[in-house]
Amino acid sequence: MPVPRRAPIGVTRWSVWTLPFPVLAVILAVELLALGTLATAVSRDVPVLPENWAVLLAVLVAAGLVSTEASLGVERVRDRSDESPHIDLSSVWAFAAAALLPGALASVVVIGIYGHLYARVWRRTGVPPHRALFSTATVVLAVQAAAAVTGLVDRDALFHTVEGLGAVLLALLAYAAVNMVLVVAVIVLSGPNRDLPTFLHVLAHGDEAVLEFATLSMGALAAGAMAALGPAYAVLVLPPLIVLHRTVLVRQLEEAASVDGKTGLLNAAAWHVRAARVLRRAERTDGRVGLLVLDLDHFKLINDRHGHLVGDHVLAAVAAAVRAEVRDDDLVGRFGGEEFVVLLPGAEGDEEARLAAVTVAERIRKRVAALRVEVPEMRGGLVVEALTVSIGGATHPADGTDLAQLLEVADTAMYAAKRAGRNTVRMGLHTVPSGVTRPTPHRRS
Ligand code: GH3
Ligand code: MG
Ligand code: MG
Repeated sequence: MPVPRRAPIGVTRWSVWTLPFPVLAVILAVELLALGTLATAVSRDVPVLPENWAVLLAVLVAAGLVSTEASLGVERVRDRSDESPHIDLSSVWAFAAAALLPGALASVVVIGIYGHLYARVWRRTGVPPHRALFSTATVVLAVQAAAAVTGLVDRDALFHTVEGLGAVLLALLAYAAVNMVLVVAVIVLSGPNRDLPTFLHVLAHGDEAVLEFATLSMGALAAGAMAALGPAYAVLVLPPLIVLHRTVLVRQLEEAASVDGKTGLLNAAAWHVRAARVLRRAERTDGRVGLLVLDLDHFKLINDRHGHLVGDHVLAAVAAAVRAEVRDDDLVGRFGGEEFVVLLPGAEGDEEARLAAVTVAERIRKRVAALRVEVPEMRGGLVVEALTVSIGGATHPADGTDLAQLLEVADTAMYAAKRAGRNTVRMGLHTVPSGVTRPTPHRRS
């Protein structure tokens, strides 16, 4: 009789086993190291605890729990909307603990705060246990490093002398370094690119580093106030901390509000605001700016033939193709259904701007024509090919002095490209074929 196959249960189902081996190895090593240093710290610190350790421990854990509770909404949204490394503001209390308590006790504070954070936030937002455990282990290590540095100075001198300030600053650096290096290492190892540029990109592209320093500075101030004035002063740190939490959310929502969900490009409103800013800057510096309006040819047919889902895949692939053909500071937006806009600043003369716009437009046109969009979700793995795009261009100030005029000119040129048979580029007011490099007839009066 065939034995019914059972789904694997227990540890074999943990998502941790789906990680690539190097990531798994680093995670396990970090966790073992955290446990090891914690055990050493306990045997070293417990015989020589500061006299008010119990009060400090209780206040720090309580403050950590209160800040998490007070910012629950923010944390949930952050976790849901954020792919980037997550620096959470609990490190205020973790760092304060490292400055006020020996490493072993500071680690207990960390475990308390992060355990609570897991139960209240991470678990509900689908953070797997191995990630929560790893985060906690990195913070335990960071706290041990910081506590080791502040431990070099006599506890009474820490918040009253210049050497003490130096030690606090060094501890801050040690904390940030340990935390960043470990978290970023795992991000880099898990990504498809395991090279150094990716590593540096992750470090340089985060406001996360700035936020981390702001958080740790608040932790140092909290510790100073608690040491000099009394543990109860932790209460005064809570309001600014909650405000900091909110500003982080506002920044992330702002980002989310300016991005088109389907393509990751700027949405129309955000593109308009930024493009107008670029034009104003160009006017001040007497620079030239190119503008392209793109419209996919016969896109409706793709929807009709394969459905909207495939259409959406194609839109995302075309957006990526456009992005790949322009520089980082060119503005690419999705204007409407299957229309895109590109703003190209940085040219010096009218002719240079026009040539640059034509060149970029031609590159985009060819790249789109060569696109093969694979849609693995469709049965049999559909591939959409033979896409084409019609592109109209205009340059500032030759074709118009404000954004509305420029868009009108580029749009008219785009329709001329459609009439000329599609898969074509047309430039300027009088829709000169793109291959012709004589100056466009200019300025509207
Ligand atoms: P033309 O070459 O003249 O531009 O032909 P076209 O079919 O591309 O032009 P038309 O403007 O008539 O059709 C645009 C189509 O784009 C119609 C609409 O169903 C589709 N569309 C608009 N937005 C989306 C979207 O977000 N997803 C998908 N899948 N389709 C979209
Ligand atoms: Mg179209
Ligand atoms: Mg259209």
